[in-house]
Amino acid sequence: MSDKEPPNPFEEIQRQLNELFKDSNVKVSTHTFNESDILDDADIHDGDEASLDEASSATDPLEKIRHFHLKPKEVRDYLNRFVIRQDDAKKVLSVAICDHYNHVRQSLSGKKTIAKEYSKQNILLLGPTGVGKTYLIKNIARLIGVPFVKADATKFSETGYVGSDVEDLVRDLVKAADGNIELAEHGIIFVDEIDKIASEAGAGGRDVSGRGVQINLLKLMEETEVNLFSPTDMMAQMQAAMEIQRGKAPQRKSINTGNILFIVSGAFDKLSETIKKRLTKSQMGFGAAQQDSDEDLSSYLRYAETTDFTKYGFEPEFIGRVPVRVACRALSSQDLAHILTTSEGSILNQYYDDFRGYGITFNITAQAILAIAEKASTEGTGARGLMTVLEQLFRDFKFELPSSAIKSFDVTADMVEDPLPTLTTLKEQGAHLQQDVWRADIKRFAAGFEKMHGFTLEFKPLAEEALIEAALKSTRSIQSLCEEKFNDFEHGLTIIHRNSGQTVFRLGKLAIQDPDKELSKWVVRSIESLKKDPE
Ligand code: ADP
Repeated sequence: MSDKEPPNPFEEIQRQLNELFKDSNVKVSTHTFNESDILDDADIHDGDEASLDEASSATDPLEKIRHFHLKPKEVRDYLNRFVIRQDDAKKVLSVAICDHYNHVRQSLSGKKTIAKEYSKQNILLLGPTGVGKTYLIKNIARLIGVPFVKADATKFSETGYVGSDVEDLVRDLVKAADGNIELAEHGIIFVDEIDKIASEAGAGGRDVSGRGVQINLLKLMEETEVNLFSPTDMMAQMQAAMEIQRGKAPQRKSINTGNILFIVSGAFDKLSETIKKRLTKSQMGFGAAQQDSDEDLSSYLRYAETTDFTKYGFEPEFIGRVPVRVACRALSSQDLAHILTTSEGSILNQYYDDFRGYGITFNITAQAILAIAEKASTEGTGARGLMTVLEQLFRDFKFELPSSAIKSFDVTADMVEDPLPTLTTLKEQGAHLQQDVWRADIKRFAAGFEKMHGFTLEFKPLAEEALIEAALKSTRSIQSLCEEKFNDFEHGLTIIHRNSGQTVFRLGKLAIQDPDKELSKWVVRSIESLKKDPE
């Protein structure tokens, strides 16, 4: 990566394509694209109608940014709808985001009054896993209307040959913006696990690769042009080449990172310990820090200073480019309970929707919410623990209830402790209605059969009973049992239909016990009737 104009990738691709096709009949255009074939920004804005891409078509994707006028408290209030706690982070992020997009708005409108030297508000979010770091940024991106990508710092290598290249992040942002480069240029890139690419200077010196990744990231964070086509992504290269062959000049060949907002984040476990030691030694800050329990080491992160990060293994230039730093707190079990009941993005909503898909509703008691939250907090994965606990809690219910007569149930604290007895009781209570469910399943199979093959299957009561009995015995669903039993029916019924014109078939007990025998009997009968009445 360099700050210079990236080399034109198309010439090389075209040369390779020519090489590839030289022995075939395929004609490859000999026109070589050069700088002047590729539109620059000025061309796009000059309004050449034929060459305008979606960016400047009827709906302007930058519309929202051009009219960005949110105030920090409004951003905070929006975040409050989804994210529980993290008040410090919300405050700091709201201010940084408003500053950044106000600046972007003004520079888009060409205001001359804005400062020439603008330091971007790149952000460092500290804090344990699953406490809402990503969730905060995702919601911000949605509010502003900009694309967002997230990646772990550990997947990058300095060269990009093993692992990914940090520049892939920028290209991913273009994908997240549905190919709209202008929009991508105002998006948000989130790099998690940033603490893993720093390592303390020890006897063996710093981790060279981590340092290289930091330097590469640094370049992106400042301002650089990133090639739209990765030199290692052959598919993208080929696609670009094809476009050229089709006579379509790509509108842009690179993307500028000057207005992309970078957010780096990490748990910084070891840093918490260092800060704790520092604070415990010094008098200052001791009182404040001591209030936090020993388990919640992460609470010390809010006292982090620049020197803590450089000692931790960050390049001073890197950490200097991330001026906005804020720590997210660990979530208590009460916080987790709040997430379930008040966050608009509560995972519980997903479960309501899932069950609603089968016409089933459930009520959850306040005690059950607390029990779920308690259990989740012992997982040590923040709000992600809620997903684990709910998954285990509802697993069997999701499997069993859709095939049962139960249309509603209560989730109690006892059920959270041990879900199976509740499920068993529910099934017992609904047992007397189970016959109706099975009969409905049989009707559903018949309706599907009719839709697919055009023949009506009418099951007599004794046939229904025999089917239900067989399903119970084999613990299989009515649907799969019917599919197996009547596998050959389409073929047989078509023959009968040809012979007799019959489309409605009544199935008795025998058709369930030995469907093939019954079907053969019907076919033979239809042939005989044909002989009797050749017309
Ligand atoms: P991380 O801090 O590791 O980036 P995430 O933000 O990805 O964690 O959190 C995972 C999920 O947990 C989110 O998608 C969200 O549903 C939920 N979650 C986490 N923290 C909160 C919070 N403070 N308020 C509401 N939901 C949260």
